[in-house]
Amino acid sequence: MNAKQIIILIGPPGSGKGTQAEMLADKFGLFNFETSKIIEEKFKNADSSDKVITAEKENWKSGKLVTPRLVFEWIIDRVKELASEGKGIVFSGSPRTLFEVENELPIFEELYGRENIRALNIKLTEEESVKRNSKRRICEKNRHPIPNFPEFENIEKCPKDGSPIITRFLDNAETIKIRYQTYLEETEPVLAFLKEKGYEVIEVNGEQPIEKVFEDILTDANLQM
Ligand SMILES: [Zn+2]
Repeated sequence: MNAKQIIILIGPPGSGKGTQAEMLADKFGLFNFETSKIIEEKFKNADSSDKVITAEKENWKSGKLVTPRLVFEWIIDRVKELASEGKGIVFSGSPRTLFEVENELPIFEELYGRENIRALNIKLTEEESVKRNSKRRICEKNRHPIPNFPEFENIEKCPKDGSPIITRFLDNAETIKIRYQTYLEETEPVLAFLKEKGYEVIEVNGEQPIEKVFEDILTDANLQM
């Protein structure tokens, strides 16, 4: 597999795309591009007297999306760095809006080549999204997602770094429903856009065990070492 490539995972909250991205990153030595991490860092370090950023932060905390232009700028800066280092990337939080994909795709194509960009859609119903997210947990140190599967139910420390497990404040049923609706309205059009541009969007059933989803991704996207 060509090391310098881009894999884009798109799916609703709870589809496990973050976990799959991490697994792909590990297997193929790709950079796991976590847009949410970049956004969280930006807000964490934000000047509280900055009214624009403060308003964005409030929106984001209530489950809405950050203004696309802002996210776009943060993302592109990082992607350019990675491309210049010759690193491949797996995305699981971007492109998240039509605005993003319209603006990002030409830059991705220029930096990585169209033939090295793959897109996958991990599918999940709203019902399953709410069910999974109401119990969703992450580790404190590196925000590793702790999947909502029986084998992880009783763990109290992150299997990867030993840090405590915390529950995200976003995860109540109403917020999850807003996020799911936001996904349908804002993110699903990204898939249509990619198809329009001639990309094959590979569909994967997200309502399966983690390992099985991963297997499907490798097979259906024809990803090999
Ligand atoms: Zn961790």
